[in-house]
Amino acid sequence: MSQHETTGEAAPDEALRHQAATFALRYTCEDCVYFLPDAPPGDSCAHGYPNLAHLRRPAGPIVFCKEYELR
Ligand code: SF4
Repeated sequence: MSQHETTGEAAPDEALRHQAATFALRYTCEDCVYFLPDAPPGDSCAHGYPNLAHLRRPAGPIVFCKEYELR
């Protein structure tokens, strides 16, 4: 059992998602200048990165991209 489960705190990714929604933070491919919206998911990065983990997702771990550039 993790520390977050024992204290009743939100898991880090869940807390970050909540803050991102509250403050309209942008960090996923959909808001990156290199995103190709008409390409298939996972193959929609102009740099050719396999980007499934960087796409906007309602749950699961948050994975940041070092090449992210706000559109
Ligand atoms: S550079 Fe990174 S954040 Fe931007 S579209 Fe490619 S994988 Fe996504």
